[in-house]
Amino acid sequence: MDSETGTKTRIELIRGDITKLQVDAIVNAANSSLLGGGGVDGAIHRAAGPELLEECRTLNGCDTGDAKITKGYRLPAKYVIHAVGPRWRGGGQREPELLASAYRRCLEVANVNNVKTIAFPNISTGIYGFPKEPAAEIAIREVRRFLEQHPEIEKVIFVTFDRENYELYRRKLNVS
Ligand code: ADP
Repeated sequence: MDSETGTKTRIELIRGDITKLQVDAIVNAANSSLLGGGGVDGAIHRAAGPELLEECRTLNGCDTGDAKITKGYRLPAKYVIHAVGPRWRGGGQREPELLASAYRRCLEVANVNNVKTIAFPNISTGIYGFPKEPAAEIAIREVRRFLEQHPEIEKVIFVTFDRENYELYRRKLNVS
C-alpha cells in the first residue's frame, strides 16, 4: 500500500476501449461544444447512441478545464463525465494547469454524483496534441492527490489506447 492511504491499490491501468467498461462513470475527452468529435469522443457517442447527443445539447457547452456529467445511455457505464482538456499550443497558454483542472473537475463531479468507480482516457493527448509524458504525470498526480483526500472513491482506471501511453503509465505507476 502507498503510505496509509491505499491510493496504489485503488488505481488500475488497462489498455483498451473505454466504451466497453462497466464502471459507474467513464470520462470523455470532449471539446467545448460537447456536441461530439473524433477520437474517444466519437467512439463514446457511437456506443452510447443518439440520446447522449440530445442530453449534451441541453448543457450549453463546457469551458476548457471543466467537466459536465450525463447519463451513459447504451453504454455499460452509468454516466459519462465530459471533460474539456486544453489544446496544446506550445505550453505557454496554461495548458498544464488546464489539464490538471480537467482531471480534478471530473473527480469532483464524480464524487458529488456518488460515483465510486471511474475510468479516464488520456485527455488531450490525441487530436489536441498535449505531449504524452507530461500529460501522464499530471493525470497521475491529480488522481493520487484526490484519492488521498477522498476515500469514498473506490477505483480509478487509466485506460490507455495506444502503446506509447500504456508504456508511459506502466512506468510511472510502477506496475507490470
Ligand atoms: P483529445 O482531443 O482530448 O486529444 P482524443 O480523443 O483525440 O482527444 O484522444 C484522447 C486519447 O484517447 C488518445 O490517447 C487516444 O488514443 C485515446 N482514445 C481514442 N479512442 C479511444 C477509445 N475508444 N478508448 C480509450 N481511449 C481512446
